[in-house]
Amino acid sequence: MRALQWTGPEKVQINDIPVPDIGPTDLLVKVGAAGVCHSDLTLVNFPIQLREDPLTLGHEIAGSIEAIGSDVNGREIGERGVVYLFWTCGVCRECVSGNENVCLAAGRVAMPPCPGLTIEGGMSEYVRIPASAFVPIGDLDFIQAAPVADAALTAYHAIRGAREALRPGGTAVAIGIGGLGHVAVQILNAISGVRVIAVDHVPEKLALAADCGADLGILSGDDTAEQILYLTGGRGADAVFDFVGADATAKLACETVAPNGAYRMVGIGGGAPEITAGPAGGPGWPWGATVRKSLGGTRADLHACVALAQAGKLHMEVERFDLAEGPEAFRRLDAGQIRGRAVLVP
Ligand SMILES: [Zn+2]
Ligand SMILES: [Zn+2]
Repeated sequence: MRALQWTGPEKVQINDIPVPDIGPTDLLVKVGAAGVCHSDLTLVNFPIQLREDPLTLGHEIAGSIEAIGSDVNGREIGERGVVYLFWTCGVCRECVSGNENVCLAAGRVAMPPCPGLTIEGGMSEYVRIPASAFVPIGDLDFIQAAPVADAALTAYHAIRGAREALRPGGTAVAIGIGGLGHVAVQILNAISGVRVIAVDHVPEKLALAADCGADLGILSGDDTAEQILYLTGGRGADAVFDFVGADATAKLACETVAPNGAYRMVGIGGGAPEITAGPAGGPGWPWGATVRKSLGGTRADLHACVALAQAGKLHMEVERFDLAEGPEAFRRLDAGQIRGRAVLVP
């Protein structure tokens, strides 16, 4: 089968590899679509060789069941679904509490095992998955469903974790209207009742945010913080979701979050915010505000995202590429030229 593989720093190519064997608790999934995520770029652009063997990329996977392991119950050949992206132990205190994204086995700061980042992923014709990772999607289109498995999941988890700050009449800011940000705007509209302000440095991305239901858009510049404070009566935003993860966006979040507000760092970008416990004078960190470094989401979050998509409340803006065009999709994402999510179709 064909697979898009990472073969070394900044090297992505199509290789012919064997269709994977499956074990007794696995499924073989025929891939219908696989989304391209910024995390893929972070891995591909990593300056050193992290492993000897090529790695098949892809952690945003939708497809249908092609083969079923001998010990798996309750699944059918041909069933359609998405793949939950953390393949965790399933039995530790965190996993059984529904916090698979912080599975104990991952240690303190590592990520749990994830297809396409640490295990063979789904930018290929077939992928082996643990049966427990399969979440049915009914008749949802594969190209729409693939980004639900991460772009929607990760945005939803960050928003759900800030729900106490999200009250009707309040304001949320979404920084970065890419794959995650454009979905986050829709999720905020679907579940919170807050006013949504989108921030991006590209006018077309603010237009996408408006299409997704954002109430206001701010083209980022030197006065972005001032504008947000002006729009919130000097108080700041009740929640600030940073989907970019850079020092400049971390600074913006610290300068614009409200007292008791929620600042959420989403994904594995970066950004080092300056936060102080000192008295909150000037543009300092306000009283009561919380910060959370949010990774992916839980299995329950994925079920919620699938339900929102099935109810027609989430529309993924996608650019479709054939699997063979994968390297081009990576290049365009790296250049900031993808509207919404790039999705590969084998
Ligand atoms: Zn991702
Ligand atoms: Zn666990």
